[in-house]
Formats: sequence, structure tokens, C-alpha cells
Amino acid sequence: MESLIKHARTITPHPPTSPHVRTGPNATATQRPEALFIACSDARVSPAFLTGAQPGQLFELRNVGNVVPPHRPGRPTGEAATIEYAVGVLGVTDIVVCGHSDCGAVRTLRPGGLSISAFTTWWWLTRTNKRSRPSATEPPVDPGHLHLLAQLDKLRRYPKIARGLAQGRLRVHGWFYNLTDGRVFIAPTANSPTTDSFTPL
Ligand SMILES: [Zn+2]
Repeated sequence: MESLIKHARTITPHPPTSPHVRTGPNATATQRPEALFIACSDARVSPAFLTGAQPGQLFELRNVGNVVPPHRPGRPTGEAATIEYAVGVLGVTDIVVCGHSDCGAVRTLRPGGLSISAFTTWWWLTRTNKRSRPSATEPPVDPGHLHLLAQLDKLRRYPKIARGLAQGRLRVHGWFYNLTDGRVFIAPTANSPTTDSFTPL
């Protein structure tokens, strides 16, 4: 932690400098992110490292398992609020949902994955991820891939997202980051949501 504090002290007199950051009192006028990046909280996943993004370029939503909860009118979540703000206020045109290999959240969802020390994690993930588990009729799919496909499916069902996609002013991307070799793969499209045809980015 000491090294993190030391670094934060060195940047204190210098606010972020980037073509994507402007100074001013209005937060919505001072950031114009290109994309909303939804990723796992896993410390090995760094959206800026993956994309080379500068300050101001990515609007980030992170939680354990890069989960997008189902859209439920009248039952707001932090994730729904972040998605709404990114699309409705900041006007992002692209949303990336980024899963990754060796994800602890995905392990939690597997049979026997429940741990008392992570009960809240398990409870929340199972409540919001009913579609993450393979059915007996589906072909074998990498659990991490299936989990990502489930999040993409739920995201596309948000009314604002569905409208944006239908009107062609919004794009949704599914990325899967392989921690073992650093490669990023693209999820198949919404037309083939149960296949495991992930392709290199
Ligand atoms: Zn993870």
C-alpha cells in the first residue's frame, strides 16, 4: 500500500491531462468518454492497460464478476444507474462487457462453489445470473464464456440499450480477456448466444 500512497502524492498537484478531460465545474461537460467499460473487479484486469485508454476516455463499471443485473423497473441498482448515466447523460456510443479467465465469481457459480466467507457474493451472483448456468441441452461451453454471454444478454434487454441498438446509435461488445497469455477474444453476436465461437480481437 505504501507504494500506492507514494504515487498518489506525486500526482496531487497535477490534475489528469488528456484530450478527453476538460476542466470546469460541470462534470458532464468535462468528460466525454468514448465507451462504457464493464469489467470484473479482479485486480489483474485493468481496462486502461488493456485498451491504452487515457484519463477521460473510458467510463468504468466494475463489480465482482462483471455482472449486469437484470433490468427491473422500480428496483434500481448501482449498475443500472451507471449504465443509464453513461448512455443517457454522457452519450457513450459503445459498451464493452469484459469477462476474463480464472474468474473467482464464475467459480462461485459452479456446483459446490458456495463459500461461507463469500456468501453475499454467491447470493448476489446467483440472484442476478440465472442464465449463466448451462442447460443439459446446450453444447459444452467454457463457463467464463457462458457467464459473459449471460451479461451481454441482460444488457441488451435494458430498454435504453435495446432502443440504441435498434436505432444503430449504440454498439455492445463482448470481450474475454485470457489472463494466461494476455489475448482478448470477441464474444459471438446476439444471434448465436449459446455457441462458444469466441474469436481473437
Ligand atoms: Zn472476475
